[in-house]
Amino acid sequence: MNQGKPTPRKDYRKQESQRAQESACLSKKFPELKSLTVEFGYFGREGQSRNRQIKYTVNPDHAKSVFRLDCPNAECVCGDFDLSDALTQAVAARQPTVTGELNCQGWISKTAIDQTHCHNILRYKLSLEYGILSGN
Ligand SMILES: [Zn+2]
Repeated sequence: MNQGKPTPRKDYRKQESQRAQESACLSKKFPELKSLTVEFGYFGREGQSRNRQIKYTVNPDHAKSVFRLDCPNAECVCGDFDLSDALTQAVAARQPTVTGELNCQGWISKTAIDQTHCHNILRYKLSLEYGILSGN
């Protein structure tokens, strides 16, 4: 299976942000979702903290349903974190909070493609509020 070399980082990010832009907004995909708060922190490969926790509230009318966070490694190739699946599962189960951890699957730099994974860690907590579906 030779799929060729991964596209350079900039193209990948561009492609991914375009995919996010073109996705439906959260309120359209999940009409019952009334608010979403995201808390997250980045950790290095050995689990050391890289910076403080970040917390923000997302407006489901504006946020896109392809929900991505950039990897903090400026050299990372084809990595980043995609919370879309975690979000989809949380809404499907109507969970009020979800916590989890994602491992960056990108390459640590463009000279380490096919050799060293980035493996930065994202630890996140999603807090969700639901409304009643209006059936029309
Ligand atoms: Zn990365």
